[in-house]
Amino acid sequence: MAEYSISQIGTFEECALQYKFVYVDRIKRLEEGVEAFLGQRFHNAMEWLYRERAFRIVPLDELLAFYEKQWAEKWHPEVKIVRTERTAEDYRLLGRRFIEDYYKRHYPFDEGRVLGLERSIRFPLDGEGRYNCKGIIDRLMLAPDGAFEVHDYKTSSSLPEQADLDRDRQLGLYQIGVQRLWPEAKEVRLVWHMVAFDVEMRSRRTPEALEELRREIAGLIDRIEAEREFAPHESALCNWCPYWDLCPVKKHLVKVEALPKDRWKDEPGVAIVDAYAERWRTKRGLEAEVKIRNAAIKFAEKEGVQVIAGTEARLRVTGKERVVSPAKGSAEREALEQELRAAGVWDEVSTLDPPALERAVAEGRWAGDVLERIRAYISTEKRYTVTVSENSS
Ligand code: SF4
Repeated sequence: MAEYSISQIGTFEECALQYKFVYVDRIKRLEEGVEAFLGQRFHNAMEWLYRERAFRIVPLDELLAFYEKQWAEKWHPEVKIVRTERTAEDYRLLGRRFIEDYYKRHYPFDEGRVLGLERSIRFPLDGEGRYNCKGIIDRLMLAPDGAFEVHDYKTSSSLPEQADLDRDRQLGLYQIGVQRLWPEAKEVRLVWHMVAFDVEMRSRRTPEALEELRREIAGLIDRIEAEREFAPHESALCNWCPYWDLCPVKKHLVKVEALPKDRWKDEPGVAIVDAYAERWRTKRGLEAEVKIRNAAIKFAEKEGVQVIAGTEARLRVTGKERVVSPAKGSAEREALEQELRAAGVWDEVSTLDPPALERAVAEGRWAGDVLERIRAYISTEKRYTVTVSENSS
């Protein structure tokens, strides 16, 4: 039975295609953002600090030396710095400051008893074991008043509002897990260390809020398991995505940018986009435009891309399969309606609403034999949209 983590579910919500690359196809990439690299080094330092705490208090300079050693040993050429005005050195020093601030605020690290460090938890969300979740708690603590505390370190550079944390799914889910695994944990507190601001933030969940979260996560797991299309979703997060060479909205760009600038114009996709953009700018020759549009669609299909790069513009070509039902009044239409009635699914598409039929077929909502009979009356066609955009300078 599959197990889901919150970051896995979050990836699906952000981009279903990236989810597929990571969790379905399991394509490993070494590339990671410097922010994630820094976050991991901070977590390593905290884990060591609290592990050692059972025996001694690690001095600050020793902790910083541990951090520096880890930074140097783990650094690799695939660490990506997206913000070009920053250097690796800037991030290394930032991590040092996070450690110094945290150390000064929490010394002598005796706010309760450590129950687990980087503690892996796995638990079902429901009684039947249909929905299974997993996670890693940065630090699980037993507070002096007997409450369990879930501590999480955040190295991000934006401070969340309290309301965001009161809705935060990750630690809320960990609370569900903690209470399943340790039923004596009657009271659970959620604690975030926002180390970039030297701020500690807390939240508690009511049983109703946990139940609502449980239902929300179960619904998202249902959506993931029903997903067939895994469409790409472009956003600012693409800048941190390591799958550009496989992604249909990025891979042509990667291919073109690998060429010397003076050879761009010879690349077939670039030639199509440049010609299209030229017509588009001058609004000349509709007929020629249709020809280039068709060439763009053909190129996009052949290369498996959705965005074609040009010298100064890009073309986005999106195609969608549409279910086409027989024309009103035709004998096929009448026969299809009878099939739908006989299969007992007529109410779902009554008066044969084509979008409803399209959704039902696309989602595979009906049993295989019903679908099979209905497919005899319908056809599919792909409709394309081609849009041009100028590169931003
Ligand atoms: S580059 Fe963007 S759209 Fe493509 S897979 Fe990655 S996140 Fe998704």
